[in-house]
Amino acid sequence: MNLFAKPLLASAALYAAILPPAHAELDVGRLKTAIETSIEADYPKLDALYKEIHAHPELAFQEVKTAAKLAAEMQALGFDVTERVGKTGLVAIYKNGDGPTIMVRTELDALPMEEKTGLPYASRDQTNWNGRDTFVAHSCGHDIHMASWVGTAKTLLGLKDQWHGGLMFIAQPAEEIASGAKAMLADGLFTRFNKPDFAFALHSGGVPYGYVSYRVGIGSSNADGLYIKFIGRGGHGAVPQRTIDPVMMAARFIVDVQTVISREQDPTEFGIVTVGAVHSGTVGNIIPDDALLLGTIRSFKPEVRAKMLAGIERTAKAVAAMSDAPAPDIRIGEGTKAVINDPAVVATAEKALKAAFGDKLRLTPANTTSEDFSEFAGAGVPSMMFNIGVYEPEKWTAANRSGTPLAGNHSPQFAPVPKPTIETGIKAMTLAVLSAFDQHARRK
Ligand SMILES: [Zn+2]
Ligand SMILES: [Zn+2]
Repeated sequence: MNLFAKPLLASAALYAAILPPAHAELDVGRLKTAIETSIEADYPKLDALYKEIHAHPELAFQEVKTAAKLAAEMQALGFDVTERVGKTGLVAIYKNGDGPTIMVRTELDALPMEEKTGLPYASRDQTNWNGRDTFVAHSCGHDIHMASWVGTAKTLLGLKDQWHGGLMFIAQPAEEIASGAKAMLADGLFTRFNKPDFAFALHSGGVPYGYVSYRVGIGSSNADGLYIKFIGRGGHGAVPQRTIDPVMMAARFIVDVQTVISREQDPTEFGIVTVGAVHSGTVGNIIPDDALLLGTIRSFKPEVRAKMLAGIERTAKAVAAMSDAPAPDIRIGEGTKAVINDPAVVATAEKALKAAFGDKLRLTPANTTSEDFSEFAGAGVPSMMFNIGVYEPEKWTAANRSGTPLAGNHSPQFAPVPKPTIETGIKAMTLAVLSAFDQHARRK
């Protein structure tokens, strides 16, 4: 279903006509009014799109129907759309004269969990995931991002005489398993298509709607997967002297590895090692052959990451040596890198966002969670990711006062208020993109 009829493009275009032409100082006050008018006219259709996507979420690399919906929207707007980039990803290009190419990313995927919001448009959909039937829910707000993404594209086209260059709108699969950005890059995102000059993404959550938060530099954590198998020699639980006990090695490691954090790492730097899964043995009176530990390692800085990895490996080997056991099998699954917000891109966007959002624009500390938007910066594209709030401000304040904060991302109760959240997303993203075009044009 194509939600945008061509005549709707008129509203923003009308306002754009009374704005000063591109390359003059960015007049955020007037642009804001034009953007708000455009959003107001488009919102009913965006609301329908949001609720349809919310009610029918799809998991990582299964986002076929979701991608098709977005492809239809972007084609209707006049974008040149290529589907199945990085399995289920989508690239939509729009050229408007000479100038830089600016990339805007949304995610496509949802989570394998049951939604418990009780909303009229709540998801009841189920699918098969890793061999198991599961409910599916958009509990991370990626549906908010998709609606904002389409709305931003629509708004930017209505303001076409305010910018020159290319729009590269990408819908990325599989963010939740940190694989989609890599898959799109491996499928030629920056070789089959123009490599963009700048990239933007947003994420919803955390604070009341109307607020926009951002960081300069590090925005989220490096995430590495930890796999350690301690190899022992099994036997009777009553005859330990004839065995090498891998459960003992696992127990020692779990405790000792935290000294890498508390004694080796600079206490002013961020670093976490969490052992989240321990698999060993069957019954109480058998010493098993081995013990498998799975964990996650989080850090902001590469040097901290390197120090932690070395310490973890040393601790595991020492624990095995103490038991006179063979060397353990240690594998570090290199996961997601930290999102780095480019200082120059941020400085430009910050000015426009400050003028539009005033004290509702907040500089916040980095997140300890991870995000594969970092892959695009890693591939050499200066970029910025920012956050938008989702909650009713009064409810948020009352919940915090009561000591039970409102449900956050990945909670079955996660329920953004659609209209003000999507509006904030479109307004902030449109201004960020326009500010980057403007800065580039004036640098020439
Ligand atoms: Zn998530
Ligand atoms: Zn997310």
